[in-house]
Amino acid sequence: MTKIQDNLIKLQCKECKRVNYWTRKNKKKVEKKLEAKKHCEWCRKHTLHKETKK
Ligand SMILES: [Zn+2]
Repeated sequence: MTKIQDNLIKLQCKECKRVNYWTRKNKKKVEKKLEAKKHCEWCRKHTLHKETKK
């Protein structure tokens, strides 16, 4: 198997806790957790999405 999945992370809406986005990051380069303001379909607005583990 490949290692692609190792770098795949989820971005979870802070308000409704749903996972709306998937992204990848290079673990060697990025050490701190990702945070991004993105549109949440469930909250129907832009909310803060945080990296979450499986
Ligand atoms: Zn939400």
